[in-house]
Parts: sequence; C-alpha cells; structure tokens
Amino acid sequence: MFIAGNWKMNGTIEQARTLARQLANQLPTGAPTTALFPPAPHLSAVLAEVAESPIFVGGQDCSPHVQGAHTGDISAGMLADIGARGVIIGHSERRTNHGETDAEIHAKVSAAMRTGIGVILCVGETREQREAGEAEAVVRAQLAAGLPDPLSGNAVTVAYEPVWAIGTGKVATRDDISTMHRMIRAWLRAHQPPLAETFILYGGSVKAANADDVFAADEVGGALVGGASLKADDFLGIITAAMNA
Ligand code: PEP
Repeated sequence: MFIAGNWKMNGTIEQARTLARQLANQLPTGAPTTALFPPAPHLSAVLAEVAESPIFVGGQDCSPHVQGAHTGDISAGMLADIGARGVIIGHSERRTNHGETDAEIHAKVSAAMRTGIGVILCVGETREQREAGEAEAVVRAQLAAGLPDPLSGNAVTVAYEPVWAIGTGKVATRDDISTMHRMIRAWLRAHQPPLAETFILYGGSVKAANADDVFAADEVGGALVGGASLKADDFLGIITAAMNA
C-alpha cells in the first residue's frame, strides 16, 4: 500500500513543520509507504523534519521544461535537487484551474521521469462525464495521453480521483471504485507493461472513517488524501486502516 498526503495550498511553515514532525514521530512500525506533498515553499522544512523517518516528500506539480524563462514554475530537477522523491502530476485542480491539457501532463510526466523522481499521475472523470456513462472512457483517454509510450522505468503510480469526490465529502461507492480500478489495472497490463503491478491509489474524500471500505475495493493500492492529510490523527487513522486492509 501507498498513502500520500496532498497538503495543497494550506498552512504556515510552522504548521507544516509541526504536522511533519508529528507524523514522523508517530508513524507506526510497519506502516505502508507514506509520502507528503506540501506546498513548494514548505518542502525544505518538511524534508528536514522527516529526514530520520521512512516518510518521503514530493512536489504538487512540476514544469515540463528543464530550465529557463518560466516564471513561477518549478522543474522536476529542482525538486530532485532538494531531496524530493516524487511529484503529483495532472491533479484535477491543476487541470481545471490552470487549464492543463493531457499533452502538458504527458510532457510533465516525461520531465519528472528523466530526473528519476517518482510520479503520481492523477486521472478521473467529472460528475457530468460519469452521468453520461463516459467515466471509463475518460480515464482510459487520460492514461493513454498522459503516460509516455513506451515508458522507460516503472516509477509511476496512478491515482484515480473522481473529480466530484475531491473535497466534497462524497466518496465513490466500493463497487464504482472496484470497477474503475480493475479497468485501470487491465489497461496498464495491456498498454504499459512496466506499470502492470504499480499501485493504483483512490483519491476523493478519503478519511479514517471510510478508509476501510475504500481499501476493501478491488485493486486499491492506497490513497491520495487531501483534507484528511492536514491533521496528524486523521492521516494516521488512514495509515492504520491501510495496515489492517
Ligand atoms: C486530493 O486533493 O487529491 C483529494 C483527494 O482531496 P480530498 O481528500 O480532500 O478529497
């Protein structure tokens, strides 16, 4: 299992340090792979707090470019340089708020892979797309367009995050999660053999109270957690649920 906390654009540096310290100190022995994705200005502080723990740290986005005139952007190489070991790419908030296209996401995944850091590629349908019966086709298209082909190396994790479940308190049903995750697994086996057995995370309003149910769905290899990753007890509750799954 793999549990990732996406802190989004929340908190002060002191809050980030405190949360990272609490998680590093309280992470249970035998916990699944655990990763934190703080806002970029907090990366170094969080890296320092978790340095003695197995927790790894990543960025919430990276540029498709290596360097140059890209004001405000952060390259995958810069993330790697400060000790980040992963990056979230294609989160629905970036697709929506920044108009990120699948082509840009593809370029970002390629850029991250060239630096050797791990990628969490987010895919997922909107409410309208689900209601129109297009959910699986949308996710298949996002996988096909977002992943470099052929993929060299295997450090990509896929996160299925139905857009309508993110930050809304609405979790997809266990059946819907199972159906989508089985489809993603079959697609990866057929089209990206290096990723055939990679973790497929579920994301969308996962909390300690519903984590058991989410982890019981087919082919769920962990969770990408937003809101519930901002409090140590809540996030540790999800980690404990993963250990018991
Ligand atoms: C996310 O941002 O990836 C996410 C799943 O958020 P939340 O857990 O708050 O729905």
